[in-house]
Amino acid sequence: FRNDLAALKADLDGVALEENPALVKQKSRDFFWYSPVLKAQLDHITADLVATPKDEAEVIRILKAAFQHEVPVTPRGTGTGNYGQAMPLSGGLILNLAEMNKVKAIFPGRVIAEPGAVIAQLDAETRAHSGQELRLHPSTAKTATIGGFIAGGSGGVGSIRWGGLRDIGNVLRLRVVTMEAEPRILELTGWELHKVMHAYGTNGIITEVEMPLTTAYDWVDVLVGFDDYMDAVRYADGVGNADGLLVKELATVAAPIPYDYFLRHQKFLKPGQSLAIVTVAAHAVDAFLALTSRSKGEVVFRSDTAEDLKGIPPNYELGWNHTTLRAIRVDPSITYLQSMYPPPHHIEKIEALTRLFGDEVPGHLEFVRFDGKITPMGLPMVRYTTEARLEEIIRIHEEHGCPIFNPHRYTLEEGGMKQTDETQLAFKREADPKGLLNPGKMIAWEDPEFDFTSTKTFLFPGLQQAS
Ligand code: FAD
Repeated sequence: FRNDLAALKADLDGVALEENPALVKQKSRDFFWYSPVLKAQLDHITADLVATPKDEAEVIRILKAAFQHEVPVTPRGTGTGNYGQAMPLSGGLILNLAEMNKVKAIFPGRVIAEPGAVIAQLDAETRAHSGQELRLHPSTAKTATIGGFIAGGSGGVGSIRWGGLRDIGNVLRLRVVTMEAEPRILELTGWELHKVMHAYGTNGIITEVEMPLTTAYDWVDVLVGFDDYMDAVRYADGVGNADGLLVKELATVAAPIPYDYFLRHQKFLKPGQSLAIVTVAAHAVDAFLALTSRSKGEVVFRSDTAEDLKGIPPNYELGWNHTTLRAIRVDPSITYLQSMYPPPHHIEKIEALTRLFGDEVPGHLEFVRFDGKITPMGLPMVRYTTEARLEEIIRIHEEHGCPIFNPHRYTLEEGGMKQTDETQLAFKREADPKGLLNPGKMIAWEDPEFDFTSTKTFLFPGLQQAS
């Protein structure tokens, strides 16, 4: 890339720009450091410049100028992604969408918002307006943007009822600006949405989202303690499959993680206790407790009866990647994996791997609806020793029929399904012909010959050198 910054800046008179190296570096990072592998590869990465558009017209101006002067552009919400998605591997410009954060219109069943709207703020507005909320949100709802979730996330709280973002109907419409000499504005719906969803912003900038809403109930957080982790897993599987129970979050975390690392909840827990983490609608609590009374579990915390909730985070901030975050805060040597235990033999698979790895890989499952079936997705923690051992743990999972979505890779393909998403690639050819959007993240674009069956990791040739 020519990366002609001086010419770019001259064209962007009136747009909010930031060049202070410390501030630019701050906006060039995400939560990549969860992974010791990515930490080593990406710690030095920084952009040259941050542009913060206030509306779509400014986005178009910025893209047009960046195209002309061949400056790479990496979009950013609030940088809470875990795989270096929002990190500018070849430098250039960070397109900070955080100021485009308005909720534009709320209707029965849907909301239209700008991409930088923070998810919890969006939910607060739709709840106040008409008792509605998003179907699903990441556990980072309080800080993450809706555009970043769609471009970089996958699912989360609510996925036990609604499935993931990839499920047709969970995103209604996206307005997208292309990276061309004359940027075009496209309105995508239906299957077309998959062109840019979870594409890490490599093939278009989302400038408006339309999302479906559901009823915003009063939600009650419950923690159920178990002496044996597998009892917690079987219990959660039963709760997930209880068709009449309205549940928004359902997870299990193996001992010793809860007592050792959920410091704010420690007073409710016993050492050696595994947990089921459940968020249930207030009107379903009695039914839920009736079901729980038939298990080996003991209710150790209920947000509706707790005397003092001061300093107690919501259950969803114990789940998803917050589980890992709480563990890393106490023990920085911990990292994690992302796995799947396909039904119908999921319990047997989880049991076999739990026995095999013991405390080296403490269990964490998020129960979600996957293709209509209640399925445990894993975010097991790993007491990290070496990269070779991490690879071995991945291989053993795969040998047990449990696919791994590797969170230690910055490319779309290696982190996901280990193959190119042809829809996203075809759209990139059309929408970003010079390959200026978030370079290095789509292997199929950078190296069409790359052999996905080899065990070699892709190394982006344009990766900024560490100084
Ligand atoms: P960013 O990190 O800023 O961006 C994410 C990706 O989207 C980047 O590739 C960026 O280039 C691109 N992008 C951003 N905005 C746009 C735009 N307008 N147009 C085009 N591309 C864009 N993820 C989940 O899915 N579920 C979870 O439950 C979850 N829990 C998490 C817990 C913790 C503690 C952490 C650290 C992360 C978690 N994540 C989770 C990952 C992440 O927080 C979410 O996916 C979040 O929604 C990302 O939003 P963001 O605004 O931070 O996006």
